[in-house]
Amino acid sequence: MSSILRQLVDYHVHSFHSTDGHSSIDDMCSQAVRLGLAEIGFCDHVDFTSNGLGLIDYERYSEELDKARSQYGGELTIRKGIEVDYNRTYHAQIDEWLDEKHFDFLLGSVHYVDDFIFDLGRKPGMSAETMIRKYYTRVRDAVESKLFNVIGHFDIIRGYIPTDQDPISLASDIIDSTFESMIANGVYLEINSWRRTDREPFPCKDLIQRYLKKEGKLFSLGSDAHSWQQLAIGIIQVRDLLLNLKPRNMRMLFEQVPNLP
Ligand SMILES: [Zn+2]
Ligand SMILES: [Zn+2]
Repeated sequence: MSSILRQLVDYHVHSFHSTDGHSSIDDMCSQAVRLGLAEIGFCDHVDFTSNGLGLIDYERYSEELDKARSQYGGELTIRKGIEVDYNRTYHAQIDEWLDEKHFDFLLGSVHYVDDFIFDLGRKPGMSAETMIRKYYTRVRDAVESKLFNVIGHFDIIRGYIPTDQDPISLASDIIDSTFESMIANGVYLEINSWRRTDREPFPCKDLIQRYLKKEGKLFSLGSDAHSWQQLAIGIIQVRDLLLNLKPRNMRMLFEQVPNLP
């Protein structure tokens, strides 16, 4: 077994530094210690979309993470990341914003189709198929931007845009080329429990299997907790789902030592 999987980690956690976060970095870390997590990864939102979630205050974020590291360093490894909403339109702004800032990991994800937040469902006048294809095209753009180490909640659009057809088959060509690009560029696939234990994670089991068939090996795990009460919910389930698929030579984010064949 991948050594890091013997310990629990949660690499997708939001704090007050995100406008939709409900807990402080300190609250999250003390809950992580209570739960016995080995590592926690903060990835507060950086979102250039107008009416989006906005940007973090990098200086304050860094200061509070440094403070948490000195307080919890003996018992918890704290990783400093961000979750960037990717859109080619904002590529230059994202690139410029990242300049001279330091992060342990950069999570790229997509929350909009044509600046329309799909949490609200279908964009008026746009078919489900068009939305789904546009979504995955943007995920592929995120990979091809080469800005990110990890791609977050890969098929999250499945949770918001219901279709009569299989949502994977509607975009299987784009999904395949996205996985191929991730594998070629060493980008990790996040398995996101979405703070729940009763449904499949993002990406679903079929997509994880599709990635494994292409010999994808790089994984991250996260709950997308926005409050300390949600921390690590579903992490054990997604870890076990992954292990039951018997991935070969898998490597977890921040795992330094490669597995033996
Ligand atoms: Zn997200
Ligand atoms: Zn998130």
